[in-house]
Amino acid sequence: MIKKFIDKLLGKSTPGTSGGKPHFGKREEVPASVHGINPELVDRRAAEVVATLKQAGFEAYIVGGAVRDLLLGLRPKDFDVATNATPEQVKGLFRRAFIIGKRFRIVHVVHGRGREHEVIEVSTFRAYLDNSAAGQVSGNEKTSKAQLAGMQHAVDASGRVLRDNVWGPQDEDATRRDFTVNAMYYDPVSQIVVDYHKGIQDAKKKTLRMIGDPATRYREDPVRIIRAVRFAAKLSPLGFTIDAKSAAPLVQSQALLAEVPQSRMFDEMLKLLQTGHAIATIEQLKKLGMAKGIYPLLDVAVERADTPFVKAALVDTDRRVNEGKPVAPSFLLACVLWEDVRNGWQERLNQRQHPLPALQEAIDEVFDKRIGDVSGRGKLAADMREIWVMQPRFEKRVGNTPFGMVMQPRFRAGFDFMRLRADVGEVEEALAEWWQDFQAADDERRDDLMDQAREEQKARQKAQQPVVKRVPRNAPAAAPRAAAPAEGADYPEEGMEFATEGSAPKKRRRRRRKPGGGAGGGGEGAAPATAGE
Ligand code: ATP
Ligand code: MG
Repeated sequence: MIKKFIDKLLGKSTPGTSGGKPHFGKREEVPASVHGINPELVDRRAAEVVATLKQAGFEAYIVGGAVRDLLLGLRPKDFDVATNATPEQVKGLFRRAFIIGKRFRIVHVVHGRGREHEVIEVSTFRAYLDNSAAGQVSGNEKTSKAQLAGMQHAVDASGRVLRDNVWGPQDEDATRRDFTVNAMYYDPVSQIVVDYHKGIQDAKKKTLRMIGDPATRYREDPVRIIRAVRFAAKLSPLGFTIDAKSAAPLVQSQALLAEVPQSRMFDEMLKLLQTGHAIATIEQLKKLGMAKGIYPLLDVAVERADTPFVKAALVDTDRRVNEGKPVAPSFLLACVLWEDVRNGWQERLNQRQHPLPALQEAIDEVFDKRIGDVSGRGKLAADMREIWVMQPRFEKRVGNTPFGMVMQPRFRAGFDFMRLRADVGEVEEALAEWWQDFQAADDERRDDLMDQAREEQKARQKAQQPVVKRVPRNAPAAAPRAAAPAEGADYPEEGMEFATEGSAPKKRRRRRRKPGGGAGGGGEGAAPATAGE
C-alpha cells in the first residue's frame, strides 16, 4: 500500500544507475590529524549553528562546498549546514530563522543586520529517491518512515511532486550530492569529517569524481554538467581535473540541458562567469569540447573571449570577484554584447539615422536577437541599456551634461564600461581620465575641468576635425581601434542645449595634462564600484 502511494507520488522514476540499489558508500570518520582542516577557517556562526542543533539532540554538520574548500585550505565563501532536523525543528531553535524555497525547502538562519548580516543555510538530509526510488523506500522500514514524514511536503499546492523535500538518512543525503569532494560532512565540534564516497582521497588525488554512474547523474540533473565545468575551472589552479569516467559523458550529455528551465540555465551561466573563474571556465569549456551549445549567451562570451574588449571584461570581472568586490550581470552582459550594439548602431549611422534613435534601435535589435530568453529580467535589460546609452554621453562634456551624468545611479557602471573601452583603445584614454577626475572632484575642480574640456574642443574645432567619422556601409565588424560610433556623434538630449563636443581622430588628440595630478587612469586607483547592484 505504502509502495503504491509512493509510486503514485513519484510518478515514473528516472532510469536507474544500474537498475539496482545505489551504493550509499561506507561511512568513514576522518580525524583532524588526517584531514588537516584549519579550524580558524571555519565560520564562527556556522559552527554555532551546528553546536545548537547538536545540543538539541540532532545530527548536524558543515557540508558541501565549504568542506571541500576547507580541506583544500581555501576560505569558503559560504557555509552550508546539513542536519536530520526538519525545517520546522530548525526554525524552532533559532531566533531569526526563515524557511525558504518551495522546490527545495531549507532554513536561512540569519545573524546580524543590514549589510553585515550573514546567512547560514541549513538543509535537512535528503533521501536518495532517484532511479528505483520507490522500491528502496518500501524496502527500508526506517527510511520509509522518515520519507513518509517528508512526503507531507513532497507535493505542492498544484500537486507537483517536490521530490527534493523527502527527508532521509545521512548516507542517502551524501549519495544524492554531485562530486565526491562536495559530499563530505564536517563536525566543527569534534573536528571529524564524515566521508562516504572517498572524497578525502579524491581531494588528495585532485580529482573531481561524480558519485555513482556519471551519465545517469547528468541525466537526473543536467545542471551537473555545468557544475562539472565550474568546479573544474575553480579548482584547475590547484591542479584538479575531472576524472576520465566523469568527463567522458559530458559532451554527449550536453543536449540534456535543453530540458533545464531557462532561468536556472541563466543563473548557472552567471555562476560560470561571475564567481571569479571566468577565464578558467572558458579554458575548460574549450578543453572539454563544450565551447558551444551550453547556453546561447555563453556561446557568445566564449566566441569573443579573445577579443580585447570581452577579454578585458572577463579579466576585470575575475579580479573584482577575487578582491571581494561586487559584480553585476548587466555589466558583463553589456560587455559581451557591445560588439553587436556597436555594429548595429554604426550601420544605422551610415544610413544617416540620428544617433540617439539609431542607438536605441540597435539595442532593441540586440535584445530581440540575443536575449529573448531572459526577457523576464526587466531590470537586467534596463541596466544594460542604460550602460550602453550612457556611452555617447561621455563624449559630450558641455553644459550640464557631465553634472547630470555623475548624479545618475548607474553612472559608475557606465563609467567602468567606458573605462574598459579606453583600456582597449576604443575611446581616448584622456576622456576616461577626465571623467575619472570629474566624478571625484569638488565643484571648483569640476568647473576647471569643464573649462579644460571647452578649450580642448576649441582647439579641435580650430584644427577643423571632422565631427563624425563615416564608415562605409557594410563595413566589416569594427576592430577595437576603429572609430566607435560614439566618437564625435552629435548627441542632443532632452532639456539640454544641442551641443557637439566632437572628437578628433585618435592620433590628433593630444593627451591632456592632468593639473593636480589626481586620479590615475588605470581604473585601479579608483576602485570602481562597478554597477554596484
Ligand atoms: P560553491 O563553492 O560554488 O558554492 P558548492 O559545492 O558549495 O560550490 P552549491 O551550489 O553551493 O555548491 O551547493 C552546495 C552543495 O549541494 C554541493 O557541494 C553539493 O553537495 C550539493 N549540490 C548542489 N547542487 C547539486 C546538484 N545539482 N546535484 C547534486 N548535488 C548538488
Ligand atoms: Mg556553496
